[in-house]
Amino acid sequence: MAPPQLTLDVLCVGAGFAGIFELYHLRSLGYSVKVFEAAEDIGGVWWHNCYPGARVDSIVPVYEFSDEKVWAEWSWSEKYPDWKELRRYFQHVDEKLDIRKDIVFNRRVTSAKWYADEDKWLVTSQDGSVVSARFFILCVGNNSKIYIPDIPGLDRFRGSCHHTARWPQAGLDLQNKRVAVIGTGASGVQVVQDVGPRAAQLTVYQRTPNIAFPMRQKSIDEETSKKMKVEVYNMVYRRRRQTLGGHAYDLYPKNSCDATAEERLLFYEDMWNTIGGIQLVAASYKDIRLNQKANDELYHFWRSKVLERVRSPRLQETLAPQVPPHPVGAKRPSLEVSYFETFNLPNVDLVDLTQNPIVGVTSNGILTNDGREREFDVIVLATGFDAMSGGITQIDIEGTDGISIFDKWTKSVRTYLGMMTANFPNMFFIYGPGAPTALSNGPTCIEVQGEWINTCIKNMMDKGFTRIEPLPEAEEEWQKSIFESMSGGLYDAPTSVFLGRNIPGKVSEPQIYVGGIPKYTEMCWKKIHNGYEGFSRTALK
Ligand SMILES: Cc1cc2nc3c(=O)[nH]c(=O)nc-3n(C[C@H](O)[C@H](O)[C@H](O)COP(=O)(O)OP(=O)(O)OC[C@H]3O[C@@H](n4cnc5c(N)ncnc54)[C@H](O)[C@@H]3O)c2cc1C
Repeated sequence: MAPPQLTLDVLCVGAGFAGIFELYHLRSLGYSVKVFEAAEDIGGVWWHNCYPGARVDSIVPVYEFSDEKVWAEWSWSEKYPDWKELRRYFQHVDEKLDIRKDIVFNRRVTSAKWYADEDKWLVTSQDGSVVSARFFILCVGNNSKIYIPDIPGLDRFRGSCHHTARWPQAGLDLQNKRVAVIGTGASGVQVVQDVGPRAAQLTVYQRTPNIAFPMRQKSIDEETSKKMKVEVYNMVYRRRRQTLGGHAYDLYPKNSCDATAEERLLFYEDMWNTIGGIQLVAASYKDIRLNQKANDELYHFWRSKVLERVRSPRLQETLAPQVPPHPVGAKRPSLEVSYFETFNLPNVDLVDLTQNPIVGVTSNGILTNDGREREFDVIVLATGFDAMSGGITQIDIEGTDGISIFDKWTKSVRTYLGMMTANFPNMFFIYGPGAPTALSNGPTCIEVQGEWINTCIKNMMDKGFTRIEPLPEAEEEWQKSIFESMSGGLYDAPTSVFLGRNIPGKVSEPQIYVGGIPKYTEMCWKKIHNGYEGFSRTALK
């Protein structure tokens, strides 16, 4: 390996919310910090996901940094901003925090090796550069490794074919085009409702029906924005740390069985009509993810609403089947505005892959099991991500025992507190496996974890420790906490991302801690207060 061209206190990988948070705060503590980012600009997922209709499913001001320096002079135009506005927001973040000067763009980190003589990581990038850093923080997000199913002939297609998270930065004209969308997760839903009305033909290939809730989008005018800053913002940033999902709301403190059928109906009607959003699960009766009967009732309430919006009986049953595809909330709920009505358009059709799977892609289109070949100009792969661990394991990181992170986590994704893993000293990760991650609001989880990591690093530096790593037994204990957090819960979806089941061959086990932000935060800080319980900390002789 070439000698390092740069020596740092901290190297972060990724310039989304997490990398920016770490860079700004660690730099403020006086450490030398750099961020390496594979993309050509900041924003993380909001740089990569510029597909038609891409927007958040968390509301603002919950989905943003809590730092007043940033929010004081920033106003959103919508409750759920789209990717363009989020990109402008990140430019504003840069203006306020001056982060860009310490980010190296177009630099993909490819491998890392622990150098025990100096207690440092040697990190190599695609361009061949090598840097050494005492601390190595993976801010690669849970959605940075895309997943493309192994569809025979995909490379033969002569039209345009793009994964939603690798959408051309210059955009793609879909007006009057024949478009196929494979996948109906959150991104698929957004593409369908955006593209359906303007495509010549849109065919949607669905594996699992999406129990999508109404977004109830609202615009925010300047006056409302000013008022919210005075009356709401500070409260929201404190409140979001007290809620299970890191949002501004929490489960309703009553079990569904303690309400009458009439009360429940009005509760759901009210929520459906006025609030919408993931609140239908996240602010629902507190047993909604625990009680099958309560969950089924919510499903059938949702189904009745969808049936009112879809005209064709065939499509009604495919989009909202009588038998729930999985419990409501077993997957992160998606939000929609006009998804279901889109299927009433004469140019839009749906192929149910459970009845009629894709056989292959031809040079002109997609061939299904029924022998029909549909021709397309564009294929959109809304096929999701190797979430949580994939962004980390795609970097060839070698542990102190010579085993790579990929090999270690192929057996089982073990972490301690969802921030470190045994045999990888001084290596932290944020918004990855073993933490609240995908079941929580991104910026909340990132700030909670970032603060913990920064405190840990400062304590190490102040006390002269040069190496910290979790003990294997602590990792086992954390794995139990993760399983416990899911036990009794309705998380059993056949293609669940939370269980790693959307990726063939990935071990099916809980990928995240679902016990909620407050309990997670408390457990993490307790380890520090107990003298870094479960960790070994040493200093170079
Ligand atoms: C379309 C979409 C919508 C979403 N909506 C929501 C939502 O409504 N609410 C919510 O809470 N979360 C949402 N998420 C999840 C989202 O991941 C988080 O909200 C948040 O962006 C995580 O920030 P991050 O900094 O951890 O990671 P990211 O934003 O994913 O940033 C990671 C960065 O790391 C870079 N990177 C990865 N690997 C390397 C490497 N080897 N070398 C160099 N750079 C690398 C990537 O290029 C990327 O820029 C959404 C995700 C997607 C894809």
